[in-house]
Amino acid sequence: MDQEKLLYFKGLLELRLHTLLEEAGKACSDMRHENKGDFPDPTDRASLESDRNFLLRIKDRERKLILKVKEALDRIDNGTFGICESCGRGISEKRLMARPVTTLCIECKTEKEDQERVERQRGTRSKSSFPS
Ligand SMILES: [Zn+2]
Repeated sequence: MDQEKLLYFKGLLELRLHTLLEEAGKACSDMRHENKGDFPDPTDRASLESDRNFLLRIKDRERKLILKVKEALDRIDNGTFGICESCGRGISEKRLMARPVTTLCIECKTEKEDQERVERQRGTRSKSSFPS
């Protein structure tokens, strides 16, 4: 993937992260509005990382999403963004546009979903997958 596209996805993910943190921050300060003063700026990634409690306070679903977005940003930094973690082939740009946090190409994703379905039918408890 060329630099320009990487930057595009980076911008997309950073915006997403910003929105998520803002929402999570709002939810948190609602929960503890009596103590607003010491709450870190939720849009500041550095202060978020220094306050692990922040991530413990927010809802599980949001926390997972935030982590996914951060992982995607890490992949942009280390050059593995857009590469399927299962088969190693490139993920289509169309798929990345719709779902920039994805780590699987559509073929592997479909395969994984089929496997999960089979496991569920067998009554095996599969890991809860993130909704697409
Ligand atoms: Zn794949």
